[in-house]
Amino acid sequence: MPVTLYAKRTPLAALLWRYKNADPPRAVDRRPLAALLAAFVGHHGACLEAVAGQWDALTTVPSRRRPSLLDALVREAAVGPLVELLVPSGGAITRRGVFPSAFRVAAAVPPTVLLVDDTCTSGAHVHSAAAALKQAGARTVVAVPLGRIIDPSFGATTALRWAAQRSLPYDIGRCPLCAGSGDDDGDAEAQQREPVAGGVRGAVHGLVCAEDGGARGRGPEAEDLRAAHDHARRVRQGAEDAGGRDGDR
Ligand SMILES: [Zn+2]
Repeated sequence: MPVTLYAKRTPLAALLWRYKNADPPRAVDRRPLAALLAAFVGHHGACLEAVAGQWDALTTVPSRRRPSLLDALVREAAVGPLVELLVPSGGAITRRGVFPSAFRVAAAVPPTVLLVDDTCTSGAHVHSAAAALKQAGARTVVAVPLGRIIDPSFGATTALRWAAQRSLPYDIGRCPLCAGSGDDDGDAEAQQREPVAGGVRGAVHGLVCAEDGGARGRGPEAEDLRAAHDHARRVRQGAEDAGGRDGDR
């Protein structure tokens, strides 16, 4: 389930690009994304667990770039102990395909895995990684890309759905699994519009599109990010209090 949807030439697209391409990598680009991941898991970890069961391990879609930018981001988000389950095998991944052989399994794979990725375009990388985990024994893999890119020029249906999603405000408190469950009674207008966007409920989370000045969609506000940082700190504190009982590192 993507944390956000985004299009080219938006603030989130720029942030993700800087996070991936700035040389050397910069904390100022990584931190807001780590906070977004922390906030998402904090708000909706239970939603994911309700459908997939409690995850036994948290891992990332590995990249050939070392040290891994994404691993640093996930550690900073402090959403749980990170286990390196996959490493790139050197095999190719092409768009829209599923290539589990592109990854080698580096550790014992438990039944339920939360698989974090940074960006998702065709989904080939995340699907291939999930397939590799399943071949190695995972029963359920919950994929959580931080940003799923949408190309509204792809076709009329995509354009229509994107327009519907853009009309919704960004709300970290709602995910496709819990949207409309009652937490947002004050947001009746958005709830009424929600069926319009029903085909892409995955996008309820995903409105980070402020190229129009934020008059319609809006990105996560500083307040959301502060709350996310606070949450991450509490989680980290809790993990320390628990004495690292998972012992994965
Ligand atoms: Zn939720």
